[in-house]
Amino acid sequence: MENQDYHMTPEQFRIEGKKIIDWIADYYQQIEKYPVLSQVKPGEILSVLPENPPQKGESMDSMMKDIDEKIMPGITHWQSPNFFAYFPSNTSFPSILGDLVSSGLGVQGMIWATSPAATELETRVLDWLAEMMGMPEKFKSTSSGGGVIQDTASTSALTAIIAARERATKFESNQKGVRQKLVAYISTQTHSSLEKAIKMAGIGKDNLRLIDVDEHFAMQPELLRKEIQTDKEAGLIPFFICGALGTTSSNAMDPLRKIGEIANREECWFHIDAAMSGTAMLCPEFRHLMDGVELADSYCFNPHKWMFTNFDCDVFWVANRNELINTFSILPEYLKNKATASGAVFDYRDWHVQLGRRFRSLKLWFVIRHYGVEGLQFHIRKHIKLSQLFTKWVEDSADFELVVEPPLNLVCFRHKNGDEFNMKLMNAVNETGKVFFTHTKLNGQVVLRMSIGQTFTDEQHLTKAWDLISTTAKEL
Ligand code: PLP
Repeated sequence: MENQDYHMTPEQFRIEGKKIIDWIADYYQQIEKYPVLSQVKPGEILSVLPENPPQKGESMDSMMKDIDEKIMPGITHWQSPNFFAYFPSNTSFPSILGDLVSSGLGVQGMIWATSPAATELETRVLDWLAEMMGMPEKFKSTSSGGGVIQDTASTSALTAIIAARERATKFESNQKGVRQKLVAYISTQTHSSLEKAIKMAGIGKDNLRLIDVDEHFAMQPELLRKEIQTDKEAGLIPFFICGALGTTSSNAMDPLRKIGEIANREECWFHIDAAMSGTAMLCPEFRHLMDGVELADSYCFNPHKWMFTNFDCDVFWVANRNELINTFSILPEYLKNKATASGAVFDYRDWHVQLGRRFRSLKLWFVIRHYGVEGLQFHIRKHIKLSQLFTKWVEDSADFELVVEPPLNLVCFRHKNGDEFNMKLMNAVNETGKVFFTHTKLNGQVVLRMSIGQTFTDEQHLTKAWDLISTTAKEL
């Protein structure tokens, strides 16, 4: 290395950085040459990595050579247009560039004073998003609430549960032992992150009720009402209810208005988990799915799933920011400053668990400004249309059946030959490396899932996937 102080110089950075941008652009142009699902065995990547760190610095070229040769075989290509597994985790070039600027600035925006722009851009962008998605006024910073970017929907769930716990115990749960009486309600289909958060928040699994679902896998509000009644009669305190706008397994839509009415009547915190499907609210024609959202205390969705924004980026809105701030605010001497004392600024560290925070609103800002509302709507509508097309192919086929009517971009279907056959079929298709899709179980039966939402997925990709699935089924 020429440079005696070991640092990379700005000139070297300029050269290497451009090469890496080219590498990323090439990756996207050639992404379909890779098997979508990584084919390596456990330990295979570890075995090609040196056991000890280098004593002397190495060149960027040698690192990128290792990326190509040692790392790429262990990559499952989430950004491939042939990726239909789990849920989308799509990204886009404007998002990657926004994240790069964030890395370049290296801002730690824990409080307003540590970078006013990091706080104020986040406030503005989340207010924009609230507007773009037809959210109630109360979720905006100009009203009683506001939005904050969390890393994941799991963290939003934890944040909501802790704030709910504090509100229910008059912000004294850490002082007084009232916590054991608090009870939370989710459905049997609610994402596992809610159960995890209930455990982490000290509520305990015994105080979590799983409400049964109807034939569409949506929570049954009447059963929720009865369960709450039973708990109250036993001297317990219902404090938190989560409704899903799109469950993970089958994209079921909980009846949010009915659940919200119960929550409001029983003075329970009402959280809506719209992790993937929330993005569809960009299009007015799908907003009937969030009917009752104005009854919620908090709502989250992940631009890092379906809104072309790279991981991690979860938007968490609350109706009353003071409840959040009263829950999470602690002010040690070393963080005191004039702006905080003035009360005129948001310090987002008071809105979540961690102190430090990245400048994540930059990538959202870039995405929204690049695509505009129209561009985002165009792509969401396209994904939903593609899902309808796939649904039609399933319905027209003699061998396959649809399991539930897809509300948006997840198609749940199965081959008529039973569980074992479906698993064999899925594994055989995935082993070709041409497509990657996954399964779930609904009513105890194996169900195949096509989750359609990758940035560059088009009709031709779906056509190829369906051909592969249906011909493989005939050959098995
Ligand atoms: N909620 C739902 C409905 C999900 O589908 C998921 C992800 O699968 C999550 C929550 C958890 O998301 P995250 O990885 O952002 O915590």
